[in-house]
Parts: sequence; C-alpha cells; structure tokens
Amino acid sequence: MRERLRLAVPNKGRLVEPTLALLHDAGLVFEEHDRSLVARVQNFDLDILFVRTNDVIEFVGDGVADLGVTGIDLLSETGSGLPIVRELRYGRCRLAAAVPTDSPIATVEALAGHRVATAHPNTTRRYFAERGIAVDVIPISGAVEVAPRLGLAEAIVDLVSTGSTLQMNGLRPIGDVLASQAILIANPDAQVERAIDLGAIDTMLSAVLAARGRKYLMMNAPVTKLDELSGLLPGLESPSVIPLTHQGMIAIHAVVDADAVWSLLPRLKAAGASGILVLPIEKIVA
Ligand code: AMP
Repeated sequence: MRERLRLAVPNKGRLVEPTLALLHDAGLVFEEHDRSLVARVQNFDLDILFVRTNDVIEFVGDGVADLGVTGIDLLSETGSGLPIVRELRYGRCRLAAAVPTDSPIATVEALAGHRVATAHPNTTRRYFAERGIAVDVIPISGAVEVAPRLGLAEAIVDLVSTGSTLQMNGLRPIGDVLASQAILIANPDAQVERAIDLGAIDTMLSAVLAARGRKYLMMNAPVTKLDELSGLLPGLESPSVIPLTHQGMIAIHAVVDADAVWSLLPRLKAAGASGILVLPIEKIVA
C-alpha cells in the first residue's frame, strides 16, 4: 500500500480556486508549483494530484487517487457510482433544460418528439427516460447554447448558475434536470482500507465547511436580560454565559448563522446587550 494518501483535484476551470481555498483553509500546507502534477502536503501524509477536471473521476475509480474533488454533474455523467463522501457547498449550478424564448414549448413534457442538444448526454437521456418522455438527445461537446440557433435541436440541456448566459443567448429555462455542486469522492477500496486516513481528511474539510457561514458573537448584558437574549440566540448549543466582575453583569458568547447577524444586532441591542463583538470562526469540529 502507498504510504501517502492521494487527492485528485481539477487543474483548470471553475472548481480550482474554491478547491485550493478549501484545502488551504483546512490548514494543509503545500506549494502549487504552477499546478504541476503533484504537490506534496508538508504537514500531512497527502499528495495532491492536479489533473484535468474530467480525469478526476477516472483517477479515483482506478485507485490512482484515494479521494477526488469533482462536480455532481460530472459524476452523474460518468455513471460510475463512486461514493460521495461530502458535498463541498461551492461550484453550485444546475443542469437545466431550455428552449428559445419564442418557442411554444413551455414544459419538459412538451419536449416529447423533439431534439435536445447537450454536453451531458447520459444524464439527459436518463432524466427523460425516467419520466417516459421520448426525446432525441444530440450529444455535442461545446457551445451548447447556440445549438437551437444553428437548427441542431429545439432545446438544450446545459449547466446554468445565474441564468444570464441563457438569457444572452435568447433561451428560457423550462425545467431542472440535476442540481450540482462540488463534491469529495472516494475510491471504495481506499474507503475500507484507509478509513482512518480518509476520515481525518474529511474531518479537516468538514470543520472548515461548518465554520463558513457562522459567526461567533460576544456581548455584555445585565444578568436580568439573560432569558430574553438567550431566546434570540439559537446557536450550535445554548450560549455560554460568563459572570463579569462588574456586579449584575454577564458576558454571553454564541455561534450564529452569518446571514442572521445583521438582523440580530439591533434586536440584541434593544434587548439590553452592549459591547457586541462579531468574530469569524476558523473551524468547527462537531
Ligand atoms: P468548468 O470549469 O467550466 O469545466 O466546470 C467544471 C465544473 O464546475 C462543472 O462540471 C460543474 O460541476 C461546475 N460548474 C460549471 N459551471 C458552473 C457555474 N456556472 N457555476 C458554478 N459551477 C459551475
């Protein structure tokens, strides 16, 4: 058995930057060397393999890598059935069916008998087959959004995040085929044989993911206001309460959703909190 674990990550494209940010935030120390094939992690028995996005799944499937970062859409397209260890909450997009804005077709059911161009033919075929809708799937590898204009197809199935590319190309979404985001996948043998090592990596990543989107709040308040303030602070667990030397005063610490902070602050102040601090959290290990 290889001594060092191997993690395959994309070397180009949309998943590169958020993947590297996640690995660095997890505390893994490595140099990218212009993303040459292998980066040796200095503080963990792990090598990071930078490979083409489409090759990540093959590397993990073959056992050349033990873990990999890819997208749900790519895993779905290969149909390889490799286990998903964790959703990584970035690279969010959807595979959507779309038609030209002036098309009379308004639903995916109404695509029956029509041609659908896509770079995701396997996922698309499966989606329509599962719903008993007979479409002619036309596999193409790029510039999918121009297929209707070229007369290649009446509809497309393509990756969408904001929908602005569809709009720019005079297309209107009519249904979602698949919701995607970046995922951590594992080789099934490595999952058994190296369960502890893989678990350690997963814990590192999940600690960062759990901390993202949370803030640590600290505030002072009169002890008489504790119940009211606690009611406003549904956090990880009940808030910590620390007595202050100033008679009748306490400090309250709590973990809250980052999205809730701005609406929470005025309510905390109104309920008697003062000296409120909002701090970032680096990691949360549940
Ligand atoms: P790309 O770098 O464009 O080859 O895309 C690589 C992967 O990033 C895709 O397979 C998706 O999982 C994801 N992705 C693609 N398009 C988007 C998008 N518009 N927004 C977010 N993630 C995307």
